[in-house]
Amino acid sequence: MTLDYNSLLIALAVSASCLAATLFGSWMGRRTETFLLACTFGLVMVVGGIVVYGMYVDEPSRSLGAATFAFLHSGIALAWGAGYEFRTGRFPVFRTILCAAGAVILSVPPMVFGYDGLGFIAQNTMLSVVIFATAYQYWLARAEARAPLIAITVLYSLTAASFALCAAVLIVGGRLVLDAAPSGWAEDLNIAVCIASMTGIGALSLALYQWRVAARHRLDAITDPLTGLLNRRALFDRYGGRTMNAATAVVVFDIDHFKSINDTHGHAAGDRVLRAFAAILDENCRAGDAVARLGGEEFALVLENAKAGHVEMVADRIRKSFENFEMRAEGKAVRCTVSAGVALARIVPTHFDAMLSAADKALYGAKRGGRNRVEIASHLHTVPADTVRTGS
Ligand code: GH3
Ligand code: MG
Ligand code: MG
Repeated sequence: MTLDYNSLLIALAVSASCLAATLFGSWMGRRTETFLLACTFGLVMVVGGIVVYGMYVDEPSRSLGAATFAFLHSGIALAWGAGYEFRTGRFPVFRTILCAAGAVILSVPPMVFGYDGLGFIAQNTMLSVVIFATAYQYWLARAEARAPLIAITVLYSLTAASFALCAAVLIVGGRLVLDAAPSGWAEDLNIAVCIASMTGIGALSLALYQWRVAARHRLDAITDPLTGLLNRRALFDRYGGRTMNAATAVVVFDIDHFKSINDTHGHAAGDRVLRAFAAILDENCRAGDAVARLGGEEFALVLENAKAGHVEMVADRIRKSFENFEMRAEGKAVRCTVSAGVALARIVPTHFDAMLSAADKALYGAKRGGRNRVEIASHLHTVPADTVRTGS
């Protein structure tokens, strides 16, 4: 059985329509993934282009030719925009319009003025360029999920190459006026590659979407929603039951008289204070340190490979930054302080849980000692600053 070109066009249109419906359904399930919506609109335009092109193949006319170019260029520009959005999280509205308009300006005028051969050369060239650019977006994003993103890159590149081949064959043919839809081995290869790639790209886009949803769930499970820091569970998943090396330190922070912030300025102001403190913690830690919200107004900082004196300095720097921080709530200034307890692995038992409870004890020493201070869980340690005390 052999299939004629029009049957293959119908197969491509049906497969693209089914894919558009599936992507749209997935977007309905999670509307934050708007790149799926951009893919859907892109596919709808491509289907429009294929249908009009089918009519053009049967009965070539300038208006049908111009319409098919406009549909296909818009659809492929949207596919590029979707790829860009997948990578960056932002849909490039202006550049997508520019891309579609540029391709239309290059291909439609020759078609309208009767130079359909030239129009098809421009159309195939522009489709090839924009599809290669789409492949490049997924290539740039490959660190997120290597295998599926490299596979998508390859499929887009093959599709782009098949359009480039169509353009090359038309250029070699040298006919500026065809009066018919181009046909030959390059067009047959192009439609076969499009059908195969469309299915593959669709399946991979859905797989990537599922992968992202799962990754986001994993992230949500370990993140404190108010501050964006790790939550208690994440901290214990990472360190719970672990024996820490001698250069590790655990610091526990507790905001002083935090209840009175809520009582005086309201819960929302309290939340802003918590976020501000989390930001100060984050600013003061290095890559490799772990910062977590243990719950309420209690936070923990775990430093690995900390040099002697460094931890006390960091804890005190955080205390001072927070002391100097001022927030406005209903026109009034809100200031607060924090107390901290430090446990150093070279002095207290080195199990994480034991270090955390030693830091906790030191913290309550700091509270008893008058708050707004850093207390170190050791009687062996020297005091580096007037606000840094030692306890046992
Ligand atoms: P101390 O100096 O002894 O630590 O006193 P404190 O008032 O900070 O401690 P206390 O444990 O009495 O109060 C903690 C308050 O933190 C009580 C609780 O309502 C508030 N809190 C806990 N979680 C949140 C939160 O997510 N947002 C806000 N705004 N408040 C919270
Ligand atoms: Mg507390
Ligand atoms: Mg407190």
